[in-house]
Amino acid sequence: MKSSRIPGFYNMSVEQRRDLLKKAIDFSSEELDDLYINEPLSIDTADKMIENVIGTFQLPLGLGLNFLINGKEYVIPMAIEEASVVASASHIAKIVRSAGGFQTEATERVMIGQIQVVGCPDFQLAKQALLNEKESLINAANAAYPSIVNRGGGAEDLEVRILNEESDSKYGQMLVLHIYVDTRDAMGANIINTMVESIAPVVEEITEGKVYLRILSNYADKCLARARCVIPPEMLITGDYSGEEVRDGVIHAYEFAASDPYRAVTHNKGIMNGIDPVVIATGNDWRAVEAGAHAYASRHGSYGSMTTWSKDENENLVGEIELPMSLGTVGGATRVHPLAGLSLSIMNIESAKELAQVIVAVGLAQNLGALKALATDGIQKGHMALHSRSVAIAAGASGEMIDIIAEKLIEQKQIRVGKAKELVEQYKK
Ligand code: NDP
Repeated sequence: MKSSRIPGFYNMSVEQRRDLLKKAIDFSSEELDDLYINEPLSIDTADKMIENVIGTFQLPLGLGLNFLINGKEYVIPMAIEEASVVASASHIAKIVRSAGGFQTEATERVMIGQIQVVGCPDFQLAKQALLNEKESLINAANAAYPSIVNRGGGAEDLEVRILNEESDSKYGQMLVLHIYVDTRDAMGANIINTMVESIAPVVEEITEGKVYLRILSNYADKCLARARCVIPPEMLITGDYSGEEVRDGVIHAYEFAASDPYRAVTHNKGIMNGIDPVVIATGNDWRAVEAGAHAYASRHGSYGSMTTWSKDENENLVGEIELPMSLGTVGGATRVHPLAGLSLSIMNIESAKELAQVIVAVGLAQNLGALKALATDGIQKGHMALHSRSVAIAAGASGEMIDIIAEKLIEQKQIRVGKAKELVEQYKK
């Protein structure tokens, strides 16, 4: 799309939004209709993706708007069941674009494979022996998956660690070989698992130990994406709150999360509210991204915030995020689920590195949306108003009744299923 700023999108009908999308992206009307109206994920495809299939499970797919990232416009598909997330991300993206947009970057896409070796007669000698064979082990790993080397990636380095060396350790001593692999645009689980399984017998021979686990690590701390935004206080004015008050409230909220795991978990859940929907919409493995992100939030020894918020010398609010992003634009379900392909086309994403950067920017936006609301009016006002339609549906409303009941719930300031049930009964009479 030329611009991610689409005024009035919120008030359009679903049909109008789809028409706009059809005009904006390189999909024919029939292709889009097939994806939306007919079966987006056919039962035959689903039956080949996992085991014991009985159906498919759908989620709402919305568009996060207003994102300007490194000067490029992004309309961002988000698959999520929770009300107010898409609205909040779009609201913050609108503020950030007025301040120049998000700045992002990513490291090379180096993923880690692990081989566990136990029972070595001498662990130090075994470690040294592996390091002596570094080049041949890397070559052997690449020989097991030559296509990734042809794509400009492949195994590049290895490291050896000895765990539980202390004599009082309650766990047995073991040696762990890490192989570092550039997986290009793939998340790389299958690439890496193939490599570590293929070199395991040689590792056993060299170390004279016994190999047990051979698998990728989801702690992808060499495959990082970062995003940053700088917002002048005047752009943060909210109701009766001055921009400085909002800025300081956000910084205090961050400091709370940075010092207390009880708060950090909720703070980070809000960040994942932005990240997971894009990971899911692009067909990626959200458990892998979740696991890596939470582990990274503990890298300083205790669980903390995934973001930082501070004030710069010009009194601006500065937000930053850095997270591992083990995901791809190829492989896994990204090219199997039709909506995943559609999502990548809507964003006009060209590489996994670019996708990772977009996703962390959405996480940062989502975090600011939550902190700004929490530091001012609280989240219930906005959240419950948007949640009211789900409450009406849960109480048995359908069709035009949904909006009528939802409005009554907001008017009466009682957004509860019990109240909604009463209103549904009254409406039916
Ligand atoms: P795939 O094996 O499905 O796909 C990767 C392949 O795509 C590459 O080997 C390559 O094959 C091809 N390819 C095409 N274009 C490119 C490109 N530009 N860059 C890189 N590769 C390209 O996927 P992954 O290895 O990424 O594995 C991801 C899947 O593994 C996910 O579904 C995940 O859920 C699952 N998984 C996750 C685990 C975990 O997280 N612990 C464990 C096990 C599985 P070629 O060169 O031959 O064309």
